[in-house]
Amino acid sequence: MSRLLGHEASQKRFADALMAASLHHAWLLYGMKGIGKRSLAEHLAGLAMCATESACGACHACKMLEAGSHPDVFRLALIEGKRDLTVEQIRQVLNFLSLSGAEGGRRVVILDDAERMNGQAANALLKGLEEPSAGSLLLIVCSDLERLPATVRSRCMLQQCVPLHDADVTEVLKQLETPLEQRHLELALALAKGSPGAVTCLQDVKIAEALLGWQSLLSDMSNIDVGKVESWIRQHVKTVPHHLIVQLLVDAVWPVLQESTEGEGEQAFVRRQGIEQALHGCMRWPADVVRHSLRAGPALLACVLELRSALKLVA
Ligand SMILES: [Zn+2]
Repeated sequence: MSRLLGHEASQKRFADALMAASLHHAWLLYGMKGIGKRSLAEHLAGLAMCATESACGACHACKMLEAGSHPDVFRLALIEGKRDLTVEQIRQVLNFLSLSGAEGGRRVVILDDAERMNGQAANALLKGLEEPSAGSLLLIVCSDLERLPATVRSRCMLQQCVPLHDADVTEVLKQLETPLEQRHLELALALAKGSPGAVTCLQDVKIAEALLGWQSLLSDMSNIDVGKVESWIRQHVKTVPHHLIVQLLVDAVWPVLQESTEGEGEQAFVRRQGIEQALHGCMRWPADVVRHSLRAGPALLACVLELRSALKLVA
């Protein structure tokens, strides 16, 4: 079994509850995207099913789990291209949990993308949470806690999952199927902010190179070459993930904003406010494009231009 990186606190809390035989029947693992919550859930399922409760990797249960063939473990996630997790899917989960374990022990469900349950699905799950079957364990994985009904949240053991340390991010990135060359690895590390899942797209050399180009275009924000920016956007806005485009913009402007907090007087205040507003515009851009069906390229260029004028205002 490959070693789980990070999430030590979550593992310990779960292992302690297991040892004390006081395991809650529903754990809600929540935290930002791309930090390995799903892998954590797999690991916790391993702890719960392992013959020695240690995810030893060697016993029969661990081997079946690793092969994805354990009859008492069921995984459910959003089907690609679908909008929601449906009530039918949740009923499958509850039926599975109501049966007794084929191997004579627990039954575990890993429910991923829980924030995508529609209202009916969440209601069905709520019933299951209120009347848990004996020996059932539900591991719920969620990237957006606010989107889960409070009634569901309140019936689970909440476990926050935090971003990984840089050393762990590096380790995860080094284990990628397509290894990153050094400068792409450095860029990925800078962009990840603790979430290796957010930068796995840099395995595509074209995306990594485009992002390096973007970073260098933004290296002097107040003297930015608008023609080059426009042509970069035209070429890459369809292929490079928008959250990474924005991340580099924020990283480029952040030091200027930090410096400008030192200035005093009304002019400095106005400038700071302008930069902050422009930056918020950039950060909203990916969502605004979706929400208002904007054309991504022109909308991004407008954001960059606004940022440039805000930066040019003399403090
Ligand atoms: Zn084992």
